[in-house]
Amino acid sequence: MLQSAYLKRVYEQVTTRDPEQKEFHQAVLEVLEGLDRMLPQHPEYEKTGLIERFVEPERVVTFRVPWVDDAGAVRVNRGYRVQFNSAIGPYKGGLRFHPTVNLSILKFLGFEQILKNSLTGLPIGGGKGGADFDPKGKSEGEVMRFCQSFMTELQRHIGQFVDVPAGDIGVGGREIGYLFGQYKRIRDSYEAAVLTGKGLDFGGSLVRTEATGYGLCYLTEEMLKRMKGESFMGKTVVISGSGNVATFAAEKASALGAKVVAMSDSNGFVHDPEGIKLDIIKDIKIGHRGRVKEYADRVPGSSYAEGFRGIWTIPCDIALPCATQNEIDEETAKIIVKNGAMAVAEGANMPSRPEAIAVFQNAGLLFAPAKAANAGGVATSALEMSQNSMRYGWSFDEVDAKLKGIMVNIFHNIHDAAEKYGVPGDLVAGANIAGFQKVANAMLAQGLV
Ligand code: NDP
Repeated sequence: MLQSAYLKRVYEQVTTRDPEQKEFHQAVLEVLEGLDRMLPQHPEYEKTGLIERFVEPERVVTFRVPWVDDAGAVRVNRGYRVQFNSAIGPYKGGLRFHPTVNLSILKFLGFEQILKNSLTGLPIGGGKGGADFDPKGKSEGEVMRFCQSFMTELQRHIGQFVDVPAGDIGVGGREIGYLFGQYKRIRDSYEAAVLTGKGLDFGGSLVRTEATGYGLCYLTEEMLKRMKGESFMGKTVVISGSGNVATFAAEKASALGAKVVAMSDSNGFVHDPEGIKLDIIKDIKIGHRGRVKEYADRVPGSSYAEGFRGIWTIPCDIALPCATQNEIDEETAKIIVKNGAMAVAEGANMPSRPEAIAVFQNAGLLFAPAKAANAGGVATSALEMSQNSMRYGWSFDEVDAKLKGIMVNIFHNIHDAAEKYGVPGDLVAGANIAGFQKVANAMLAQGLV
């Protein structure tokens, strides 16, 4: 419940202006609830209409993406780019190709991205984009033609000093390669820092592939250590998803001494009480874009069940949701608590519903929100931009050490902000406050832009 009359007004404006954008409302409300605590000390925000400006994207572009499938039929998808906030740097945020993509989802993701990028401490603004295109079941040729058509339009809106997209769900190294190729062809310029997540042979950064999952574990390890005197060592971990974030979270959690016992995809989940063999997951998901179901056929003693939500019935000490938004509702959260978990850290963006977060926090679990916990991906993207600008590349260990430093720093910033504003241990409020302050200061300093 918002206390401030000003914030209530702003929220009402957001919901009446775009009544159908439920995911965006959810993201805005969570942030405003965090800011509620600091507002009495900052009358300048209301005086300068700062929050009204903050919740409205600077620019939204939608465009037609026509392409030809293998049967020669013309198909049309809708492309988007939400350029949300450029107060502290060029817009930065991923592209999502998934049939569920719409403006509400991209505005929620772009809005979260502003704060996440701010928390990294690096000079990057917030944005997000994508298309309602489903790469699943498409041939290589179809994916390439779609990416080329998408970039033919998007290229006029981006640039290394303007807006720097990256990958997200459905956009991995393959798609970034096709997108970059088309940008270069149209612009006739080798502007490496216009996209991140590039292949290592053409300007990509070491550790970018692993960064979100590794970063999630670095922040979680620090949170366990500082807030509970614990660590991943010897813990049982459940990770939803089996894509980029989930895979490398599983790799790092295992390296830190944990046992990952379950992973999932949008169809169902696998449970392996002996510990998931990651080389097999990688072979299935990265090797031939298969389904996790195959894992149970290949590994004796493991089992598969249909339905992706069922994964949260598997007891664990640490839960790392790494699939998609709103996968953990109130009931699911209660099951996780009942099964004795001590911590939840979000690898995906907004995987927990607000009621679920309340369940975790009321039960005294440690809870690390996505905008802090999964910031390692975009932080390493910013390191990729730095290397591109320097025309130089750091070693794996150098980038990994910088990533770890950034994640540990994020934990301390959000932890300290929560304490400073009277909600010790509430890392959700801490992340919203710490992320917001830097952007707000920059917006105030830059006047009415
Ligand atoms: P991937 O496309 O690599 O993997 C997504 C995983 O989530 C897959 O296992 C997918 O299963 C599953 N999934 C997707 N949609 C649903 C759904 N509706 N229900 C259940 N499962 C689903 O994406 P990423 O790993 O890159 O991204 C995962 C999450 O992390 C997203 O929320 C993304 O925004 C966030 N994120 C990613 C970053 C990155 O660097 N990649 C950075 C920060 C956040 P299936 O194969 O069946 O589709």
